[in-house]
Amino acid sequence: MAHLTTPELIFPLEHYVVNGVPFGKRSVYEGVLWGLHLGEDCIVPAGTDVRACGRGKVVYAALHPGTKEKGNWGHIIIIRHKHAKTRKVFYSVYAHLGVCFKRIDEKVELGEPLGFIGESNTPENGFWEAHLHFAIYTGPWKNDVLPGYWKEGEKRTRPEWWENPSEFIRNYKNL
Ligand SMILES: [Zn+2]
Repeated sequence: MAHLTTPELIFPLEHYVVNGVPFGKRSVYEGVLWGLHLGEDCIVPAGTDVRACGRGKVVYAALHPGTKEKGNWGHIIIIRHKHAKTRKVFYSVYAHLGVCFKRIDEKVELGEPLGFIGESNTPENGFWEAHLHFAIYTGPWKNDVLPGYWKEGEKRTRPEWWENPSEFIRNYKNL
């Protein structure tokens, strides 16, 4: 089946404000280097609606509960998109959802509800203040969850495979 194309992008929250960790920030928590942040964090109340930033197909949807030591994703959804003109494939990543409405292989339309932001500080969603982690990935797809940080020398991903999400959405029509 041909990939769905994505003619337009919008922000995944009605009020998208990066008031948490910005894209590309080198983050240290409790003395431990986590590395470069590969997405943008928007601190919003638990229960806030999260919507698809554009038309595409769900390629990953799973609950990643974690521990106090290692954080986690809560529910995470990854959608594959394809730019209508350049034909380039990219992925949008939505993490720390408490509920997820979509399953792998489902099609989604621009703005379609994906889930709600999960509660703060729960074993399921992680020991964080409730927030959306939103990222744009352009690297190879390996049918597996993607990381939120990159550390020097780490082979899991490469920083050049990640875009600044706000800039990417704003510039999308001019690509
Ligand atoms: Zn984040």
